Amino acid sequence: MQFEFTDDQKRFRAEVRDFLRRELTPEVWAQHRDTGEQGMWSVPFTKAFRRKLGAAGYIGMGWPTEYGGGGRSRIYQAIFWDEMEYARAPGLDRSITYVPNTLLAFGSHAQKEALLPRVVRGELAWFVGYSEPEAGSDLANVRTRAVDDGDSFIVTGQKAFSSDAHMADYSLVLARTDPGSSRHRGLTLMIVDMTSPGVNISRHPTLAGWTHHAVYFDGVRVPKSMVLGEVNEGWKVVMGAIDFERAALASHGLVAFQLDRLLEWTQLGSDQGSPPIQEPTVQDELVRLAIESEGARLTTYWLASLHAKGLMPQHETSLAVLVKRETARRLDSSGLEMLGPFGPLRHGSPAAQLEGDVELEYRDRLYFQFAAGGFDITRNVIALRGLGLPR
Ligand SMILES: Cc1cc2nc3c(=O)[nH]c(=O)nc-3n(C[C@H](O)[C@H](O)[C@H](O)COP(=O)(O)OP(=O)(O)OC[C@H]3O[C@@H](n4cnc5c(N)ncnc54)[C@H](O)[C@@H]3O)c2cc1C
Repeated sequence: MQFEFTDDQKRFRAEVRDFLRRELTPEVWAQHRDTGEQGMWSVPFTKAFRRKLGAAGYIGMGWPTEYGGGGRSRIYQAIFWDEMEYARAPGLDRSITYVPNTLLAFGSHAQKEALLPRVVRGELAWFVGYSEPEAGSDLANVRTRAVDDGDSFIVTGQKAFSSDAHMADYSLVLARTDPGSSRHRGLTLMIVDMTSPGVNISRHPTLAGWTHHAVYFDGVRVPKSMVLGEVNEGWKVVMGAIDFERAALASHGLVAFQLDRLLEWTQLGSDQGSPPIQEPTVQDELVRLAIESEGARLTTYWLASLHAKGLMPQHETSLAVLVKRETARRLDSSGLEMLGPFGPLRHGSPAAQLEGDVELEYRDRLYFQFAAGGFDITRNVIALRGLGLPR
């Protein structure tokens, strides 16, 4: 078993790290930070930065060259995602990770030719419209319907939890195309142009203060050429897309960043006394977190190595996401405790430590527990598909 990165991969990591340090200086962070946005960066900056990533050749490194990809091993892509997360960089979302992977796997040649080169240049933002008010974890309970109208479908319905819908150029929308069908049969996944007449977006505040969205489709015309995969076979496509989504979430950079930030802070003294790291309980906790972080790192690269071999792991992906997200949540809680009386001070408070980010992120990342499968559903996947346990 080879646990080491090659020299070229190490060089690549250093190059990406340099790029991000140059581009995302503390001044840039201060100027373009927007705590009202999911991802905490302003929309214009996120869009501009994604184009920079495209120009630097960082988008689609692991995709075939035919559609503008870099044709490199998936390990490079994993390194890039890792560094982006560590830097808390904008733009690392579905638009450059799992949506294009879904297009590659299920799209027609014409769709790939039209869309992927633009994705690689960082020009397109996407949202995915699976969830509905009555179809959260129970995804097959889709009520949005798409009625056949010659060479188009007419889509009507509501999507909930529509991350980044307000900045999206396109969306992947799951709709019921067979009116007599139920559950996972008779569904179709289609690419919808968000500038189409009949698309409306509403805004909803979250506990962390940023705004989330719901999208309403009111008789939106979608050409049949925009169907992804086969009509009425959308469930198969969505299951593949969700595997790609989970694979994209299984990065280690976030956990590494949280741990390093905490390690650094606990070594600083304060007006209140000696550095927290001198406390045996703090030391114990940091060691425990460091071990968990290393577990998350190894799981991430184990998964990347499976992808690099051309495999399409399923329950392994869920396992990696669970390890990462649970570790991140433990770091959130431990961070708050270690900050002691400073912990609850909010972003913007003069005495807040680490810009009040630990408290803000604690509230922000509550969604790890139920979004994109969440902890319960992810455990179900590991139990059923991985361990073969009965339902
Ligand atoms: C921040 C955020 C961003 C999101 N972004 C998007 C997006 O861009 N596009 C999109 O389509 N969706 C998105 N979602 C939706 C998300 O993926 C989940 O589908 C949704 O949050 C879960 O649905 P629900 O809230 O209705 O919870 P419910 O389905 O009502 O679940 C409630 C609780 O019960 C548990 N539970 C439910 N069913 C089971 C079961 N069978 N076994 C064990 N436990 C179970 C869940 O884990 C959860 O804890 C997002 C959600 C959040 C919070």
